[in-house]
Amino acid sequence: MLDGYGREIRYLRVSVTDKCNLACVYCKPRPVKQLRHEDMLSIEQLVEVVRAFRGLGVDKVRVTGGEPLLRHGVVAFVEQVAALGCQTVMTTNATRLKEFAKPLKAAGLARINVSLDTVDADVYRDVTKGDIADALEGIRAAEEEGFSLRVNAVLQKGVNEDIMPLLEFAEDVGAQLRFIELMPFRSTTGYFSDRFLPSSDIIEKYGMKRLFGEGVAEYYTFDGHTVGFISPLGNKFCDYCERMRLTGTGMVLPCLHSGLRFDVRPYLGDEEKLSAFLAECIKAKPRSHLIEEGELQSEDMGSIGG
Ligand code: SAM
Repeated sequence: MLDGYGREIRYLRVSVTDKCNLACVYCKPRPVKQLRHEDMLSIEQLVEVVRAFRGLGVDKVRVTGGEPLLRHGVVAFVEQVAALGCQTVMTTNATRLKEFAKPLKAAGLARINVSLDTVDADVYRDVTKGDIADALEGIRAAEEEGFSLRVNAVLQKGVNEDIMPLLEFAEDVGAQLRFIELMPFRSTTGYFSDRFLPSSDIIEKYGMKRLFGEGVAEYYTFDGHTVGFISPLGNKFCDYCERMRLTGTGMVLPCLHSGLRFDVRPYLGDEEKLSAFLAECIKAKPRSHLIEEGELQSEDMGSIGG
């Protein structure tokens, strides 16, 4: 269906858990407030909400988190969402893909976006506090299963200004590399001011030429390579934003950067009321984020879900 500004809403991002086994510096403030198990929607309830969104025209669902592969029942969730006729994709840090690549393929997962900012083990540890071997093994496992892969890297000064090692790795595993501009959230403004690196700096540094735009990403080429950029600040894409978000606790967010949150729980179990409620949430989607005006309404990315 169309939102209040005529944008067709077809894409839902579902954060199936707030838990993560990494601790990326720009993602969540420490110490992390853990939600209680009883505050989370069950897999059945999450599927119920996706089904209602499907009835309103959503046909693409991204499973994310926290780290989605930490959620018990995530494979069953993927299977049920794919069975609704949604293109079902996942964003993951890849550390558990060694175990999950095969069952996810069998469940009907269409594509995996892997978050990886660097292939340098020490820099990776600094950014995530994790062991890069787990992520690399996971990515290889997904490649062996024949998954269509993307590598998404958050651009940061001092982490990935030299894009070649990551680009060579992505090409080696048959993945499309895309850079995402670091976004400021209320809890991570210090890191943002120290490390923000605009896409335009990299495009200029490597003498890249624009190829095409696809959804929120713009693709560039240089020396026979292709690289994507998602630039919520440098190249604001709110006019084309077709996304809604659902958190594991049942909050519907029409925009990552607005303070709007709508609780779906009172409407569960009643198909008609749930559908009418979600239609209202879609209608409430703001025209655009107001980050440039200094309005940071969301606390952090990690607890909303990426
Ligand atoms: N754990 C999964 C993962 O690592 O892909 C999914 C959740 S994570 C929050 C989703 C994505 O959000 C990751 O690619 C992460 O790098 C990105 N992210 C988190 N905080 C961000 C920020 N401040 N700016 C830009 N991207 C951010």
